[in-house]
Amino acid sequence: MKERVYIAFGSNVGDRLGYIVRAVEELKALGRITGVSTVYESPAWGVKEQGDFLNGVLELYTNLQPEGLLSELKNIEKKLGRKERARWGPREIDLDIVFYGDLVYESDELTIPHRHMHERDFVLVPLIELAGDIKHPSLGVNLSKLLGWTELKLKPFACLL
Ligand code: AMP
Repeated sequence: MKERVYIAFGSNVGDRLGYIVRAVEELKALGRITGVSTVYESPAWGVKEQGDFLNGVLELYTNLQPEGLLSELKNIEKKLGRKERARWGPREIDLDIVFYGDLVYESDELTIPHRHMHERDFVLVPLIELAGDIKHPSLGVNLSKLLGWTELKLKPFACLL
């Protein structure tokens, strides 16, 4: 059965919007994309001495299981030319699973919902754009409440539709 998943995308190296457009094209092969948020620009999170990020979220209906989806996302990152760098360092393209239906899941490779999504304005704002004010499946609070606890640093940059 097709599951509704939300994928966060980001880039802060080279032709940032170009990487995102190509990633969305590649993601079409994984199922049916039913929404793509505004692309936002914000300063880097974590390691701060690096270029500003472009970020957004898309909604995808897919038959892939979580681990299979993760490996497809990693394949797309590689295909688009993502280079191996330090954690939270610059990246050509980053693709993360934010929500996978209502699933709460943890393995060595994968944490769903994404471990840091609830503290990142650049995930919460585009996610609310697409999903509305839904509940976070493991924290049990609405996305707008999480957003209220987050410092907002992002600004709209582009619309892909
Ligand atoms: P990143 O540097 O952000 O691309 O993250 C690297 C690693 O995070 C990946 O190799 C995954 O194994 C792990 N990871 C854990 N949870 C997630 C998730 N929800 N979505 C994507 N990657 C995840």
